[in-house]
Amino acid sequence: MDPSRVITFLCPAPDATSLRLCRAEAFTALGQHPQALEDLDAVCRAEPGQHEGFFRKGKVLLEMGQRAEALLVLEHCLTLNPNFHPARKEMEKILMQEDAPQASLCTVAARPGDTHQGSTGPQVDGGSPVLPSSAQAQEEEPTDGRGDAGSEHSQGTATLSQPGQEEEPEATAERQGQWLVDNEEETTGAKCTQPCWELLSVSDMECSLCIRMFFEPVTTPCGHTFCKECLERCLDHRPNCPLCKQSLREYLKAGNYNPTVLLQDIILATFPSELAERRDLHQAEMAELSNLTKNIPIFVCTMSFPGIACPLHVFEPRYRLMIRRCQETGTRRFGMCIYEHGKSFADYGCMLEIRQIELLADGRSLVDTIGRRRFRVLSRGHRDGYNTADIEYLEDRKVAGEELQELQCLHESTYRLAQQFCEHQDLASRHILMQHGPLPEKEEDIQASADGPTWCWWLISILPLDPSYQLNLFSTTSLRARLTQLQRILATLLQQPPEHSPWGRV
Ligand SMILES: [Zn+2]
Ligand SMILES: [Zn+2]
Repeated sequence: MDPSRVITFLCPAPDATSLRLCRAEAFTALGQHPQALEDLDAVCRAEPGQHEGFFRKGKVLLEMGQRAEALLVLEHCLTLNPNFHPARKEMEKILMQEDAPQASLCTVAARPGDTHQGSTGPQVDGGSPVLPSSAQAQEEEPTDGRGDAGSEHSQGTATLSQPGQEEEPEATAERQGQWLVDNEEETTGAKCTQPCWELLSVSDMECSLCIRMFFEPVTTPCGHTFCKECLERCLDHRPNCPLCKQSLREYLKAGNYNPTVLLQDIILATFPSELAERRDLHQAEMAELSNLTKNIPIFVCTMSFPGIACPLHVFEPRYRLMIRRCQETGTRRFGMCIYEHGKSFADYGCMLEIRQIELLADGRSLVDTIGRRRFRVLSRGHRDGYNTADIEYLEDRKVAGEELQELQCLHESTYRLAQQFCEHQDLASRHILMQHGPLPEKEEDIQASADGPTWCWWLISILPLDPSYQLNLFSTTSLRARLTQLQRILATLLQQPPEHSPWGRV
């Protein structure tokens, strides 16, 4: 006989939960998971205070590959019976898997008193059979009076224990207390079958660092959840969990802050409008950080020049944050200025573009940048510990006609001098040339770039010039003045025999 016909024959009476459990077992063995779930949903509705139905439902969901939903149901099972070890074991198994949904419920608190009426059943990963069934239960069994009953009880935190962690007896008592409320209601006919994730309030989704709703939540190995950005900022300073102080050195080393998908799903399902607001806020912040003339981040370190590479070693927390933001906003740019006494940084600087970042295990990074445009500082400011500035970009004055012809002649003769200078150098300077590469080629149109020919900047960057003199050459917007100065310096250096070091300050 066809086994499914046997099962149909065994159709139980609506209240025969033990028969339904058996039939669900049989459906599961036959691989007919949706039918098994239907029976288990009925069992959970009929006996919302019993853990057995939820445990089996979790197992079926697991077999169906719906691990996030399975985790939720198993967590609820543990809420009903914290000493039910099989559920704990199953959860541990899920969480130990490499691509496990993160243990996000660690920070999720269940509040029996929070208003939840009218909440449409949240969908986890779309189309999960977990939540629609509870929504259905809501329709069938009104939950009047829950708000009043719950408000007398303190908040109970639904803790998903990590492997090897024991639960606080007090928390258990509190949790049991929470569900006693539901059981009391059963006696008055107002049965509540709502699982704990429907009892969440927005404040349960708050990051303890920024006191705002989690944005891109990540969960540390110690089980604490923060916005990714908030945690990264803490780790810039110290490789420890900001809450429990446990070392996160290995976590930082892995550099893999996977979002806590389950929590993201719960937030999306439970507080969609608040999440949209949070996202808008984040986007507004990103837009503000993306502005490349107002409040641009300033790295105060060294002279840099248009078209010339500038490798950086980033280790200060404020600059780690700055570089990360440049990446996140997508601008990949920041200003570079030298320090100037009394001003915190010089009036002129160069925009640098990040080409590559090598992140080191301890959070430091080697950042390969290249100079883009020169700018003048209009006003100075600060953001989260680093300098910022409003700027305007510099542009060489363009000339035409006879003046242009003269400029081209000057350009030719200076380039020839630069070539001579490169040939003239001793071993020490050859070492410098090896680091900076060879003299760049001449450009066809010497006025094409707002900053003039790149080879001039290459020369200025390798010549033994005082930074204040370099800055002088840097800030002029006359190519003619720049070339004239370079010619004078080169002529002086070329007069010295190669065996006498030409690297004295000019
Ligand atoms: Zn935060
Ligand atoms: Zn922690």
